[in-house]
Amino acid sequence: MTKTMAINAGSSSLKWKLYQMPEEKVLASGIVERIGLNDSIFTIKYGEGQKYETIVDIADHEIAVEMLLKQLSELEIIADFNEITGVGHRVVAGGEIFEDSALVTDEVIDQIEGLAEFAPLHNPANATGIRAFRKILPDITSVAVFDTSFHTTMPKVNYLYSIPLEYYEKYNARKYGAHGTSHKFVAERAAEMMGKPIEDLKIITCHLGNGASITAVEGGKSVDTSMGFTPLAGVTMGTRSGDIDASLLPFLMRKEGIETIEEMIYVLNNKSGLKGLSGISSDMRDLEDAEATDERAELALRIFEDRVRKYIGSYAATMNGVDAIVFTAGIGENGVDTRKNVIDGLSFLGADIDEEANNVRGKERFISTDDSKVKVLLVPTDEELVITRDVEKFKNSSN
Ligand code: ADP
Repeated sequence: MTKTMAINAGSSSLKWKLYQMPEEKVLASGIVERIGLNDSIFTIKYGEGQKYETIVDIADHEIAVEMLLKQLSELEIIADFNEITGVGHRVVAGGEIFEDSALVTDEVIDQIEGLAEFAPLHNPANATGIRAFRKILPDITSVAVFDTSFHTTMPKVNYLYSIPLEYYEKYNARKYGAHGTSHKFVAERAAEMMGKPIEDLKIITCHLGNGASITAVEGGKSVDTSMGFTPLAGVTMGTRSGDIDASLLPFLMRKEGIETIEEMIYVLNNKSGLKGLSGISSDMRDLEDAEATDERAELALRIFEDRVRKYIGSYAATMNGVDAIVFTAGIGENGVDTRKNVIDGLSFLGADIDEEANNVRGKERFISTDDSKVKVLLVPTDEELVITRDVEKFKNSSN
């Protein structure tokens, strides 16, 4: 019986989950927020709904990790640090280097930092988290799990932009995608639920959270995905615009007096999407509450559904068919109306939603009618579990 941690480190936060393995039982989870700022918030959830929370100044990630391990002992969630034998770290950008998860070495950390240009907000923070754990628990199996790895199977035809080819050759300017661990997990689970080998299936996975992406999974491999060079591309999201015509940028910058391209990109990342369209909120629940009385909220919802539907249609064309459409993440798992409205517009593909089965939140199940040609499934995602399983694979191969 050993314990393994899944870590998602941000620039000022550290999210974690502690598992008992091989049972895959969640022992505790938590988040440290406002690292490096005053009044950092340190939370642990454990046991039967118990919660520990404290507010103290936590100067850096290393101190956060030390405090976390100490508190896990004090709360008797672990008896000794040695019980934790593995840690898996989520890393956003793996570029063309990491086609799979990797055992952390000094070289791997350097490579993750070297990819900072592809994810400036995330990769340096991910590397900081990795270093903090390595310093405090130097002997445990440490694994980096990349958001992009699953998409490294995309063919050139789908990952290249139609810009001068030299930009790809010189700078690796191409589509990388994201949410790979989630798309992989739900596609594999959907195949299991369908009782068919994934190698024989064409699946479209819709990860619809605050960030949202759609992936075409053919024979178990990602062949195309809606996010691009960065997560800004693809469908409408909570605060991101998704796809737009690049010529809009200089036009809007002139009109609005936006001086730098960084500021313009900030608007597209943080003030657009459902938030920008509705003027109310980036949160689907707020828009659903406002929909009946607020035209902008209603419009935002219809646009979101339209973009998701268009990507599904386009990926059915990419794969010349589709056997299953899978919904996951916050909106995918809970958005009963969103799922219905998206699928209602896809009857031409042979997808037919069962309204009663669809009237559910967060539960794994088929939500299409029995005679729907294309199966529609709700599969809750679990990115931390994927990370933890990857750590186990490395542990087992080194034994
Ligand atoms: P993140 O990308 O931050 O991990 P999540 O996967 O948690 O995001 O998804 C957040 C989104 O899920 C929000 O838009 C939220 O409104 C939506 N969501 C959560 N619960 C519900 C619900 N009951 N009904 C509709 N949408 C929901």
